[in-house]
Amino acid sequence: MLNFDVLIIGSGLAGMTLALHLAEQRKVCVVTKRDLLEGSSTYAQGGIAAVLDTGDSAEAHIRDTLVAGAGLCDEEATRFIVEHSKAAIDWLIELGVPFTRDDSHQTGYHLTREGGHSHRRIIHAADATGAAVTSTLGQKLRAHPNITLLEEHIAVDLITARKLGLAGERCYGAYVLDKASDKVLTVAARDTIIASGGAGKVYLYTTNPDTATGDGIAMGWRAGCRVGNMEFIQFHPTCLYHPHSKSFLISEAVRGEGGILKLPDGTRFMPEHDERAELAPRDVVARAIDFEMKKHGLDCVYLDISYKPASFVREHFPNIYAHCLNLGIDITQQPIPVVPAAHYTCGGLVTDLAGRTDVAGLFAVGEAACTGLHGANRLASNSLLECMVVGRAAADAILAAPAIELPAIPDWDDSQVTDPDEEVVISHNWDELRRAMWDYVGIVRTNKRLKRALHRIELLKLEIDEYYSHFHVSNDLIELRNLVLTAELIVRSAMARHESRGLHYSRDYPDTLPRAEPTVLTPDTP
Ligand SMILES: Cc1cc2nc3c(=O)[nH]c(=O)nc-3n(C[C@H](O)[C@H](O)[C@H](O)COP(=O)(O)OP(=O)(O)OC[C@H]3O[C@@H](n4cnc5c(N)ncnc54)[C@H](O)[C@@H]3O)c2cc1C
Repeated sequence: MLNFDVLIIGSGLAGMTLALHLAEQRKVCVVTKRDLLEGSSTYAQGGIAAVLDTGDSAEAHIRDTLVAGAGLCDEEATRFIVEHSKAAIDWLIELGVPFTRDDSHQTGYHLTREGGHSHRRIIHAADATGAAVTSTLGQKLRAHPNITLLEEHIAVDLITARKLGLAGERCYGAYVLDKASDKVLTVAARDTIIASGGAGKVYLYTTNPDTATGDGIAMGWRAGCRVGNMEFIQFHPTCLYHPHSKSFLISEAVRGEGGILKLPDGTRFMPEHDERAELAPRDVVARAIDFEMKKHGLDCVYLDISYKPASFVREHFPNIYAHCLNLGIDITQQPIPVVPAAHYTCGGLVTDLAGRTDVAGLFAVGEAACTGLHGANRLASNSLLECMVVGRAAADAILAAPAIELPAIPDWDDSQVTDPDEEVVISHNWDELRRAMWDYVGIVRTNKRLKRALHRIELLKLEIDEYYSHFHVSNDLIELRNLVLTAELIVRSAMARHESRGLHYSRDYPDTLPRAEPTVLTPDTP
């Protein structure tokens, strides 16, 4: 058995922030299922929203967040996170993150403006902000003597008082599969943090890396935590559609610079959906593409910028040009095949502003959590900010709490299971689940589609749970078990909302109700 003060599940910006704030005073273990840098944080492109410019104000940033969130943001959470934005950025600068400089600006840094923001407030490192942040923090983390980093280790389940047959609701660490040795380790800790990111992989098309399988949300739910607002999944309208390139974003700037969305026969369709055509907001464009794909039975639509001079296209979009050319698509000569893709999970484990969940000793931070900041739609570049501000607050809460005694914890018992006989069950169910979610629980929902999805999910869940109880755990089985549970939580949340609001659009309930209420699901107590 391994024993630590704090166990952190996940090494994205949320997990790294906690580890670095805690390590001076606590023995910390970070488990991460791939290598240290693999996770959405590293792929973040645009930047981090923060009130840095003297012409900007916290009130303006709060207002923009509340407007994007379609009336559902928790105002207290929004205020707390926005008011701590400058301190969070100062911390990153102190650690040496190489943000893009602009000596003519009063801050010394270049700030961009993104959709929904009323001011220039996005600090960035060129167009690869996440990579600059995680590589800088990652180096510090690797070098810290109080941090034990377990890469290629995947958390299987939390160890709770309930599972140990003890009184109360408390977490004491997690069982963790070491993928190299295929052994499940017992990692005991006084405090455990879920920093495992979102759940984009629940959908067939996603901009998220393979790590985003909702593991922490599912583990927290099984441990007795409530989940909130799971129906609000943000879809990015234009992800490259190509068999050899998963998850490549075609930036909204392509539409901004005149890119036209077309059907395979060359017909332009956006003007029929919105008078702003290709420049309509993200969710409107995503819904229109979804409508056309479903209506015509298409695999993708096309984004055409090839009518502009080739030099203009190469100069404005060097990365997109190079990436597509590598795949045989010359965007100066031909349109780009695109599909909308799941991008951000607004909901998650319900927490307070210090990341505390319903279970003592268990925290959730980052995309796995639901603080109420994002409401019904996330404002661009607020998510990395939330990882840092709530991560810092969670670290402070952990440092302030009195130490507890750990109970005796039994090792993982796999004496009753055997090696899997037919791994095709995993790959088949994985594909079926993601396609059902894409077809029935995507951008436009109906009661009938949600019912169909739930029916299939219930069958898949039975089969997966049975497989799980008979065979040794593996990375794919753990992820699939979590994906199917997360899918169920998304569908049940969507069914509970009888209106259209923000990212949740239902053809059966097209109106928005006068009063905004979060959707909160509570696990059954045994
Ligand atoms: C392409 C893209 C661009 C984006 N651009 C921006 C942007 O410009 N600005 C912005 O604010 N946001 C952006 N976002 C969103 C933002 O990147 C994420 O919301 C944020 O990085 C989430 O951080 P996190 O620490 O919660 O999770 P992640 O960074 O996803 O990290 C999760 C970690 O948990 C690990 N993990 C998961 N399950 C387990 C398990 N069972 N056991 C062990 N480890 C596990 C993963 O391996 C990973 O290390 C973007 C997202 C994407 C996908």
